[in-house]
Amino acid sequence: MTVENILTVDLEDWFHICGVDDVLPQSKWPQLESRVEANTLKILRVLRSFDVRATFFVLGFIAERHSGLIEHILRDGHEIASHGYAHRRVYEMTPKQFQTDLERSVDIITGITGESVRGFRAPEWSIRDDSLWALDILAQQGFDYDSSMAPLPIIGNPRYAKNPHEISLDDGSLWEIPPLVGTTPLVNLPLGGGWGLRFFPYALIRHIIRALNNAGQPALIFLHPREFDSHRPSVPLSLVKRFVVNGGIASTGKRLKRLLSDFEFTTIAGFLKDRKNHCN
Ligand SMILES: [Zn+2]
Repeated sequence: MTVENILTVDLEDWFHICGVDDVLPQSKWPQLESRVEANTLKILRVLRSFDVRATFFVLGFIAERHSGLIEHILRDGHEIASHGYAHRRVYEMTPKQFQTDLERSVDIITGITGESVRGFRAPEWSIRDDSLWALDILAQQGFDYDSSMAPLPIIGNPRYAKNPHEISLDDGSLWEIPPLVGTTPLVNLPLGGGWGLRFFPYALIRHIIRALNNAGQPALIFLHPREFDSHRPSVPLSLVKRFVVNGGIASTGKRLKRLLSDFEFTTIAGFLKDRKNHCN
C-alpha cells in the first residue's frame, strides 16, 4: 500500500521571521510591502497541476488582511489551520498571552471559512519542554492536532518523537505531527523544510522518505510562500539568519515539483482520517 506523505504550508509574509524584532518589529509590518498573495498563488498553481491538497497554517495577521486568498485556498480543497496571530514564539509568551493570540487567529479564520480550526503550528516550532503547557490549551480549545514539536537540536529537542503520535492530556488527547528529519549518529538533520529541504541533496531526502514510507510512516514537508520569491526586499539580517531564511530559495519550486512527482501527499486532516480508519 502506498503511504501518503503530508504537505504543509506556513501562510505568512516574507517579514514574519522569529528573532528579528530589532529589524522587523510587529509595529512596522502594516507598512511593509506584502508579497504573500503572489507567492502563495505560485504554490497553489503547482499543487493544482499535481492534484495535491495541503494543510495551510494561516497566520491571523495574514487572514485579517487577505481574506480573498484564504477563500481561494479553501476553494482549491486545501485544509486551513492556525499559525497563531502575531507570529510569536510560544515559549516567549505566558499561557494567557498564547491563548489570546490563538483565539484571535481562530476567530479571524473561522469568520472567513465558516469551519472550525482543528490544527495548530507554532511559529519556529516553538512548543518545547518549556512551553508544553500550550498542548493543554490546544486540547482545551478543541484542537485535534498540533504540529509544533521538532525532533531537532536548538529549535526543538532531538529526543522528541519523529513520527505522528497521540499525546494524552488532562483535557483529552492531541495528535502531534512532527516535521521530517534525517537521523545520523551525530545529529538529526532538518530535511522536511526550510534550509534543510533546500540544501541537502535531493537523493538523500528521497531515500529517507522512501525508508519512512516502507516502514508505514509519512514524511511531513513544510513550505513558506517567501521561499518561492527570489525578489523580496532585503533587510540587514545576521549571516546565520540570512542563510536560514534565504539560502538556496531558487531551488524550492524545483524541489517541490520533484517531491510531488516522486511521492503521494495529503493534508494532516486526510492523514488523521486515514489513520483512524485503519485503527477501527
Ligand atoms: Zn511561521
